[in-house]
Amino acid sequence: MEQKGEREVATERISLEEAVRRLVEALRPSGNWEEIPLEAALGRVTAWDLEARIDQPPFDRSPLDGYALRHEDTRGASAEHPVRLRVAGCSYAGDPPAAMLRPGEAVRLMTGSPIPPGADCVIRQEDTRAEDGMVAVFDSLERHQNYCFRGEDVHRGAPLLPRGTRLDPPAIGVLAGQGMTAVAVTARLPVGILSTGSELAPAGGPLGPGKIYDSNAAMLAARITQAGASPQLGAGTADDPTLLAAGIAALLERCPLVVTTGGVSVGAHDYLPEVARILRAEILFHGLQMKPGSPAMACRVGGGLLLALSGNPFAAAAGFELMGMPLLRHLMGQRTILARRVRGRLAEGFPKASRGRRFVRAHFTGETFHLPEGHSSGMLASMVGCNCLVDIPAGSPALMPGSRAEAVMIE
Ligand code: AMP
Ligand code: MG
Repeated sequence: MEQKGEREVATERISLEEAVRRLVEALRPSGNWEEIPLEAALGRVTAWDLEARIDQPPFDRSPLDGYALRHEDTRGASAEHPVRLRVAGCSYAGDPPAAMLRPGEAVRLMTGSPIPPGADCVIRQEDTRAEDGMVAVFDSLERHQNYCFRGEDVHRGAPLLPRGTRLDPPAIGVLAGQGMTAVAVTARLPVGILSTGSELAPAGGPLGPGKIYDSNAAMLAARITQAGASPQLGAGTADDPTLLAAGIAALLERCPLVVTTGGVSVGAHDYLPEVARILRAEILFHGLQMKPGSPAMACRVGGGLLLALSGNPFAAAAGFELMGMPLLRHLMGQRTILARRVRGRLAEGFPKASRGRRFVRAHFTGETFHLPEGHSSGMLASMVGCNCLVDIPAGSPALMPGSRAEAVMIE
């Protein structure tokens, strides 16, 4: 086997941005799509541009309980000199519009009922007094006061959702409001996951001395599911290059992208680089200018991609978030592939100087980053509830509370 030291020298460390660029360039979205029921579409990505088929709302309607009337009829109305209008009818939500309103008339309306023709405004019920078939109005109204226009939310024929939109709950509500029951989305991408390491004990079994249970596979599978893709778990594999190569090759048969954790650094049993050779892979990069997870490697194997992340759970989580997620979004046909970046101030300081670029888990409140205790890459528990990775530039000193910072959101 080749000396690990030599390989370190041979491989240039690249920036995270360059790594993402190489990953995204290495593999195209398949273009496969399927039509699925709306109720199953959360987190999936639209395959086509969608246009509004109907106006939303489909008719002019009342935004409150009150009376539809003509604004001219209320001119000069005041507490001392109310205007009295004849109540010509009453319509509830779901009723067809009432008959044409004539001058001097009002129609009682409930929220969501159609504004009848002839009326041009609605007065709140609380601002009126009902008087035996009449209604007294104490204020003058303006044209289109309390008036909800047909199509004011969405106009028929207008763009509704562009292709590549990730369907969040409001997007699903918008489609449902169009009467749609199904939507065309990009195919669920199968993503292979393989945890490597002879220390990994099978879940559900006993924990022998020196062994740990596998945190990474379940964590990555959950994130992949959240992204609308389909995690495919490979059999956990000991640190043995031949077995690892076979396990990865088996996953690549059915998954264009395989993510591994562990075994990618310079330890004597870090066999992923060796596996890349066995698989005749083309290395895209090996080594990143960032912590955690600087040894990460990616390579093209046949028509597929292997992304090999460090085994430390925080390194695996951060590496997947920063590289795997943009790649996954790209492969799922999403328009926006990079995570949102935010700025704020640190609530707590960060005690270490950062010679190289460093990502630190945090919870962002909209203004402030809260850094939990326990930030080392072998620790995962403190990441629970975190929603971002603070991006500390290379060459930063220890950071004081109140320091300005930027972060990548985990969404
Ligand atoms: P490695 O990247 O193989 O050098 O592993 C770095 C550290 O992460 C070691 O302490 C491993 O035991 C640990 N580790 C590797 N894989 C996993 C995993 N799947 N779940 C939890 N910890 C892991
Ligand atoms: Mg290992």
